[in-house]
Amino acid sequence: MSKPLIPNPALSVLAVPAFNDNYLWLIHDGTHAAVVDPGDAQPVLAALRSRGLTLTAILLTHHHADHIGGVPQLLQHYDVPVFGPRHDGIAVVTHPLGEGDQLTVPGLHLDLAALDVPGHTLGHIAYVRNGAAPWLFCGDTLFAGGCGRLFEGTPAQMAASLDKLAALPPATQVFCAHEYTLSNLRFALAVEPSNEALRARVPAEAAKRERGEPTVPSTIALERATNPFIRYRETAIAQQLAQAGKVAADAAPVAVFAALREWKNHF
Ligand code: ZN
Ligand code: FE
Repeated sequence: MSKPLIPNPALSVLAVPAFNDNYLWLIHDGTHAAVVDPGDAQPVLAALRSRGLTLTAILLTHHHADHIGGVPQLLQHYDVPVFGPRHDGIAVVTHPLGEGDQLTVPGLHLDLAALDVPGHTLGHIAYVRNGAAPWLFCGDTLFAGGCGRLFEGTPAQMAASLDKLAALPPATQVFCAHEYTLSNLRFALAVEPSNEALRARVPAEAAKRERGEPTVPSTIALERATNPFIRYRETAIAQQLAQAGKVAADAAPVAVFAALREWKNHF
């Protein structure tokens, strides 16, 4: 058996923009690639072709069309396994996953762990790469500066899911599925106007958008410092919501979280 020329080729993550504001993530080693949440096949096929990559796996976080819509067409070009949530009703999933399941991504030297993160949908999962360069692929659960809407789950479920993600190592890079950052941060500033880290983040992220760059990936450290949906236990946030008449002054943290999410829906 011959040894591979490069025993452990470095992995990169490439943002493939799709629709208005989705990012489809392509994890690759220069030869093989796995795609996370391919809502559309065309931009994925184009990215694979232009870089000479072969698709070896598909990873899904939840059942919404903008995350799975491209799977049938990708499977016509590449006969690859489809990893995805066990309980989110996705027919194309061949390798169902849930909390604590480990997977080695075919074709890549990449081990991931699945986490259950219900809230946006009930079966939503996230993928974590542990180790020296930690990654999180979290679909529509945690966003840069915000979180997904509660289409199926309760505020308590989503708050617990975000707590779980916030407990990951601070250096973890957060690859979320949408470019919602600037509008999320406008809301975050209304909720926590005196947060210095947040005030510093806004112009930094705006500058990236002006240069045409994604604001994603973020990091768990930055989200812990600036994201109101992770910081919902902060007294300043509860006070701001009470002042705005959104919750009672003595509201429990989950009630504060629910009021935050509700306010953001109409912000
Ligand atoms: Zn979604
Ligand atoms: Fe989405």
